[in-house]
Amino acid sequence: MKLQIKDLYVSIEGNMILKGLNLIVNGGETHAIMGPNGTGKSTLAQICMGHPSYKIESGDILLDDESIIEKTVDERSRMGIFLAMQNPIEVPGVTNFDFVKAAVQTRMKKAEHLRIGRFILKFEKASQDLKMGQGLAHRFLNQGFSGGEKKRNEILQMKMLNPKIAFLDEIDSGLDVDALKLVGENVTELKSPELGLVLITHYQRLLDYITPDFVHIMINGKIVMTGKDELINKIDQEGYDWVKKELGIEDEEVKPYSLGTCPSKH
Ligand code: ADP
Ligand code: MG
Repeated sequence: MKLQIKDLYVSIEGNMILKGLNLIVNGGETHAIMGPNGTGKSTLAQICMGHPSYKIESGDILLDDESIIEKTVDERSRMGIFLAMQNPIEVPGVTNFDFVKAAVQTRMKKAEHLRIGRFILKFEKASQDLKMGQGLAHRFLNQGFSGGEKKRNEILQMKMLNPKIAFLDEIDSGLDVDALKLVGENVTELKSPELGLVLITHYQRLLDYITPDFVHIMINGKIVMTGKDELINKIDQEGYDWVKKELGIEDEEVKPYSLGTCPSKH
């Protein structure tokens, strides 16, 4: 597996959010992306998954040397891309079980059939691993879930889908220490030479449980610095101002959401 993001410019509603982002993730690697709020981290995850509100102005995203930017979300999912959302949405009327089953089934080849007994056992095991409690299968997707349950449910989906490349967008937010440890252990267990992991996070605490191979700092829509563990501690202690100072990055003017017909490129 190799995911390659090449000089990517992405806008939403006329605002350029990603401005020349480059990243390569190989199978077996874990990348942490850290950065201040509003810097485009979720935009990066959403655009890789194919969210229709975001527009690629230029650049490319390649999975195993094939461009995916024209592909639909479900095609990308079938190719092995997975996104654990920062804010998972509630889907009343669709049970967790049916949702995951449908997702697994659509990823199977034509001649294959879902072996339901095996699937149920796997679902139950994943559910127990994540301490989701009885009855999870029959609850509507994320409806009435606590913040922590929603996050753990994203990891359950990841376990069931076996992606090649997974973006975990602030999987740590809303988790207490025990849940964080649990999620960390479950994700670490999924690490394999075939899986590329991209952990988007604000805080060092998640990275106590899932060790990254690379730490990237993202500011104003691009990766401005890449390092290892030492960056995590420094950010934890000193925030991001030193990065801006060191690299001479100026704070951006905050723009309103809707600029109407304003040109998006500057
Ligand atoms: P991060 O995840 O790093 O906090 P996001 O990718 O969520 O950042 O957001 C990046 C920028 O895009 C922010 O400035 C945010 O205000 C802006 N943004 C997000 N969604 C929209 C939208 N629907 N319309 C316009 N701007 C948006
Ligand atoms: Mg975000």
